[in-house]
Amino acid sequence: MSGRYAVIGHPIAHSRSPEIHAAFAEQFGIDLCYERRPAEPGAFAASAQAFFDAGGLGLNVTVPFKEEACSWVSQTSAGAAAARAVNTIVVGPEGTTGHNTDGPGLVADLTGGCGVALEGARILLLGAGGAAAGVLAPLLAQCPATLVLANRTEARAAALAGRFPGVQACRFSALEPGFDLVINATAIGLSGDQADFLRYLPDDLLADAFAYDMMYGPQASFGAFARAQGARDTADGLGMLVEQAAGAFTLWHGETPDTRLVIAALRDVVAPDPDRRSDHE
Ligand code: NAP
Repeated sequence: MSGRYAVIGHPIAHSRSPEIHAAFAEQFGIDLCYERRPAEPGAFAASAQAFFDAGGLGLNVTVPFKEEACSWVSQTSAGAAAARAVNTIVVGPEGTTGHNTDGPGLVADLTGGCGVALEGARILLLGAGGAAAGVLAPLLAQCPATLVLANRTEARAAALAGRFPGVQACRFSALEPGFDLVINATAIGLSGDQADFLRYLPDDLLADAFAYDMMYGPQASFGAFARAQGARDTADGLGMLVEQAAGAFTLWHGETPDTRLVIAALRDVVAPDPDRRSDHE
């Protein structure tokens, strides 16, 4: 009988996780059933409990339930506790354990797929929501020279930076050029309007930097903005999506999938990005 896995979120119809996990499973001849599990806001706990009561073996959690999942699980990994957010739940004899594979997924894509060196790098992270919270500890673990956090709502950036010694909060208007890597963890592109970047970021901020957009697909606009501002190279978040899924797959099945083939296959259908060199090597 195939093991049951799912991704829970709202909305969830857009999720690519089922096809990513199916492609990983094929690499190892693993028979699994991985479904999208819709849940209305407020219904996470009941839906997750019902899934595991019915024999579910693993659950991915996406927007808007990652923080709630962190309180719901029996225990959390150190990474999930630092992020205060869970994107992967593993069930075992000791109950449910919540993990966060988003940050490790970003680091894997940056250092692997994109070839960006993080040790000693000057890094700017834009945004202070759940995605930013999930990646700060894994980025810090790479020993960057500086890790600066900037957000539209400054108090949110200050509060988040305060949880991670070594992270400095900075207001958008006080940002200056000199970063090696600028990561967009805001939801700005969801409006499809690059004007918001223009409104907040100094003209030359991205000159010669590597610009990474956690977003992917037609709504991702940070890459085009960054190239127009003189960024040396850009990447979108498709690689992070596949790498965070690989982290979950390894937790559930004890196997490390080859992510390159899966990223390349998804690239053609989800987000053609001719400027992303790493996928065309
Ligand atoms: P979130 O918790 O809702 O946070 C949204 C962030 O965007 C906040 O910092 C917010 O600033 C900022 N923002 C939204 N609209 C803005 C605007 N018009 N101007 C300036 N700032 C704006 O969302 P999230 O969960 O962190 O996700 C952020 C992005 O990361 C999403 O696009 C998501 O798809 C992406 N993501 C990708 C992956 C992946 O695997 N590739 C994984 C996780 C997340 P305020 O605090 O001022 O409201």
